[in-house]
Amino acid sequence: MFRMLHVGLDDTDSERGMCTTYLGAVLMQRLGGVAEVAEARLVRLNPNIKYKTRGNAAVALRLITSRPEVVKSITLRTVEELADMRSPSTAPGVVFWQGEVPESFREFYRRCLHGVVGIGEAEEVLHRHGGEYVKFKLGRGIVGALAAIGAELRERTYEYIAYRSPERWGTPRRVCTESVRRMNRLTYPLTFNNLDEEGRVLITPHTPCPVLFGIRGVSEQVVREAAGMVVALEPVVLHAVYVSNQATDAHLREVGRIAEVEPLSSVVLLGRVASEPRVIEGGHVFFRLRDEHGDEITCAAFEPTKGFRRVVRALLPGDLVRVYGGVNERMQVNLEKIEVIELITRREVNPRCGRCGRRMKSAGRGQGYRCRRCGTRAERRVSEPVERTIEERVYQVPPGAMRHLARPLVLGEPAIPESFL
Ligand SMILES: [Zn+2]
Repeated sequence: MFRMLHVGLDDTDSERGMCTTYLGAVLMQRLGGVAEVAEARLVRLNPNIKYKTRGNAAVALRLITSRPEVVKSITLRTVEELADMRSPSTAPGVVFWQGEVPESFREFYRRCLHGVVGIGEAEEVLHRHGGEYVKFKLGRGIVGALAAIGAELRERTYEYIAYRSPERWGTPRRVCTESVRRMNRLTYPLTFNNLDEEGRVLITPHTPCPVLFGIRGVSEQVVREAAGMVVALEPVVLHAVYVSNQATDAHLREVGRIAEVEPLSSVVLLGRVASEPRVIEGGHVFFRLRDEHGDEITCAAFEPTKGFRRVVRALLPGDLVRVYGGVNERMQVNLEKIEVIELITRREVNPRCGRCGRRMKSAGRGQGYRCRRCGTRAERRVSEPVERTIEERVYQVPPGAMRHLARPLVLGEPAIPESFL
């Protein structure tokens, strides 16, 4: 009898190499003849948790098989063989689940996206439902493995990943840059984040992992066609297409007020700019945001967000904005996007001296304003028009600084030609 079997995998990689998506691709290859792959999922979890590897990604396969025990033994053998077990921080986990996915798995996925979840919580959910799992070493991977099985993927994107021959892992990747630019010209925005603002190739990672390149897009057919346009200058030994929560903003949650923001969550907040943006050493830009309740939080645009910082620097106290970003341990919002809703057009400034044209200074609390040169006095500040260099629209960090989960603005209203559907 054929049944649906879900296999979740996570935490098989290390900063030295490996990649859980590669392990998933090898597993799919080895399962040929034993199981049919109904869906291969690449699921990103809370991006604010600093694990050893950058992406915080887990993999789940939905399989149709009449031989679940054979699938399980092939899976465990593949993890034992390929996971980077020597790395002290790698702690793989595998979860098997047969049949319909229970609501509490979905709820577990949402917790892993928005919060910080421990191994014990995954075990609790699995025990409650009789889910099967295997921990290698500490087995922290069962958290992501279970979350990947539970992921809703109501909104989804696709990634085509091409893998390198093992003897080349850790060496410079060889892909024809011009072919990537051409692919981008022909398929963007149905594929996205192929190039950065300067036209540099983003589809090839810089880690020693097995990935040669990955192409993200709105449908499986689009990413397959786009991958066919890329000229690899070294052998591609394996490839896989994953359905994913990448580029969907699944991590963001609207929070009603700043007082309710939790560390390590990802939020959408409405408020007014409460302080003049300031640039600190290293080129990072900060400002304070105040909500209608009077609570404040610091928002940051870091150096890698490049041109996006110009927008943040141009904000003025009083501007109404909606900020999108991840919250760190120090309760700072690291901006991913900002919607400028209303720009102030006038602001209160010290009056100018009518005689010599100089800007007056405060003459002391309650004393009004005074010209330092000629002593002319004025009682109050005056309203002056301000010239603005930004517009009322949404701005986003450039592709090179974008999080895997962040939805590129270009996907705002996807217009997908029928030929690609
Ligand atoms: Zn004067």
